[in-house]
Amino acid sequence: RAPVVAVDGPSGSGKGTVSRALATRLGWHFLDSGALYRLVAHAALDRGVALDNEAGLADLARHLEVRFDTDSDRIWLGDKEVSLAIRSEAAGDAASRVAALPGVREALLRLQRDFQTAPGLVADGRDMGSVVFPEAEVKIYLTASAGERARRRHNQLKEKGIEADMAELVAAIEARDRRDMERPVAPLKPAEDAVVLDTSGLDIEGSIEAALGIVRQ
Ligand code: C5P
Repeated sequence: RAPVVAVDGPSGSGKGTVSRALATRLGWHFLDSGALYRLVAHAALDRGVALDNEAGLADLARHLEVRFDTDSDRIWLGDKEVSLAIRSEAAGDAASRVAALPGVREALLRLQRDFQTAPGLVADGRDMGSVVFPEAEVKIYLTASAGERARRRHNQLKEKGIEADMAELVAAIEARDRRDMERPVAPLKPAEDAVVLDTSGLDIEGSIEAALGIVRQ
């Protein structure tokens, strides 16, 4: 069994950046599990499957024809590139709705576990350490205050020329957190044996170094 580093936490905690950097530095594979939920939501919107049609969504999830290129961070669904489309705020919101359905989570289990191959896997998500890879060698729970995460999102959008309202960003982040934490299946919370790393006072490099320190312990 190849070793796994599970990195979980809310959006904007630095999880994506930190776990990608960990995978690169370790020379391991990388799983962006959030992208899978985004892909299911995208496929559903594309094919007119309602976001509360659990059986229909689970069926989409089971037959996702997804292709990842981790080096260039590009993603295809069938022969259509969806790298940008699945990163929108709307896709993230729809993803968190379909992610609340047990049938969808169950349908994505095998696909996620197929990523566990030699020499090792860094898995980024909400339930990597608690549900998908409970036997992971290392479990990190990355977090940061809602205000700090909103500030980071604000900067990201600004780089794209979008001026977002801070209060609205904080409200959106808190709403998504609430939905992820209060859902009955796989609610977002640290696994019992996870090391919690708060990145509020850290920059990207500091967060990566702290995470590497946990991996090397
Ligand atoms: O991480 P990202 O923002 O791409 O995830 C989108 C949504 O997918 C999250 O808000 C969450 O509801 C859901 N998700 C999940 N379990 C995972 C990864 C993501 O429920 N392992």
